[in-house]
Amino acid sequence: MIPSLTVTRSAPASPAGLDPTRALAFIRRRWEEDVVPALVEYIGIPAKSPLFDPGWQEHGQLDRAVALVEDWWRARPVDGLRVEVVRLPGRTPVLLADVPGQSDETVLLYGHLDKQPEMTGWAEGLGPWTAVRRGDRLYGRGAADDGYAAFAALTAVEALAVARVPRARALILIESGEESGSPDLPAYVEALADRLGTPGLIVCLDSGCGNYEQLWATTSLRGIVGGLLTVEVLTEGVHSGAASGIVPSSVRILRRLLSRLEDERTGEILSPEFHVEIPPARLAQARAAAAALGSAIWSRFPVVPGMRPAPVDPAELLLNGTWRPALAVTGAAGLPAPEDAGNVLRPRTSLKLSLRLPPTADAARATGRLKEILEADPPSGARVTFVPQPAGGGWEAPAMSPWLLGSVGLASTTYFGGPVMFSGEGGSIPFMSLLGQRFPRAQFLITGVLGPESNAHGPNEFLHLPTGARLTACVAQVLADHHRATAG
Ligand SMILES: [Zn+2]
Repeated sequence: MIPSLTVTRSAPASPAGLDPTRALAFIRRRWEEDVVPALVEYIGIPAKSPLFDPGWQEHGQLDRAVALVEDWWRARPVDGLRVEVVRLPGRTPVLLADVPGQSDETVLLYGHLDKQPEMTGWAEGLGPWTAVRRGDRLYGRGAADDGYAAFAALTAVEALAVARVPRARALILIESGEESGSPDLPAYVEALADRLGTPGLIVCLDSGCGNYEQLWATTSLRGIVGGLLTVEVLTEGVHSGAASGIVPSSVRILRRLLSRLEDERTGEILSPEFHVEIPPARLAQARAAAAALGSAIWSRFPVVPGMRPAPVDPAELLLNGTWRPALAVTGAAGLPAPEDAGNVLRPRTSLKLSLRLPPTADAARATGRLKEILEADPPSGARVTFVPQPAGGGWEAPAMSPWLLGSVGLASTTYFGGPVMFSGEGGSIPFMSLLGQRFPRAQFLITGVLGPESNAHGPNEFLHLPTGARLTACVAQVLADHHRATAG
């Protein structure tokens, strides 16, 4: 059972509208009887994104996940539903569910089924490819990020069909390369341009939520730039007793280079080129979200005892994680494992840098600037190279139309019992900026189930099942309201 689902609004919004009690009861049953069993099967498939499984075509795991969703979709009793797997040569497949509606408008619903790799640190009894249900939580890799989306999206459409509530045409697009940066999507968007049409509403189900008590709409995504920074000081390693103090170590030079980029005491990125002015509306929303979240902004992370946040103000923390640049060192080379490390002044060290950017920063320019800052005037004349990775732009959602603002507000109080919250996300969804550029007049609802402790990408990832069902109901509500607002 999915426990503690209650509806706080019992009467339908209009005679033709969705009856929340019945809609939620239907969705809850669908989740329990059909969605959860499918997700249990899905968790068992190690459908790692191509970046983490370069042999994905021979291994066939992505195809297994595609087949699971395809079969599940085809079995849904939805009138007019057309299911298709599209495969461009050499690219990861895309799943389409096309459900005709009662108007010419199109709503595009997006999610992905490729997964992050295993990661270590799973708790006793849990593992990436084994579904374990404990209370409200379904543990295992990929159910929350983002396997649930394919099932939730069609369930929302089905709920409207059962209730005979009109809606626009619904086109569900599920890709299988998101965790690799969606490298194949631009080609699919081109190839499927006629099928996509011009969506008036885009619903993305691959985002986060600040808690499980209200509906969260993502207003912005950060961009990302990065690459490999290498410092070479010697042509071969030498006895550290002989050379240290005479030859500068590559790590010391790296420290100086990183200090050009960030203040090591605060983590602040120093160069103004990586910052943007935060729009006043987003500042106000961040303050509201910070008030709702409080210390959870910090405590949702598995920090070791004794750790404390740098800025204490929750709103500032939230803005640091959504509208300000921040650096992470995600990998290193040139360092032996400690048990193999002799007293050697090593010839070189490489660090993989990942710099998150504010939503509206120019990622291509930022990459160029990063290279300039790191490579200029190398300390002690060391050989310094920075090899950038392809940059990913961030994105800020367009302002919501009054109908959508009203719809998400009512959906949140109806199905969650709390007011809707708006917040930026610290991560990136490359497809959203692509769609934003391509469909500048579209409205966006970007939401998801990645809430406290859900730990996508890390160990012990789980899907909060009541949130999955409630979110499905919210999406159904928004589709109904979209039709009412646009069908004249
Ligand atoms: Zn995702």
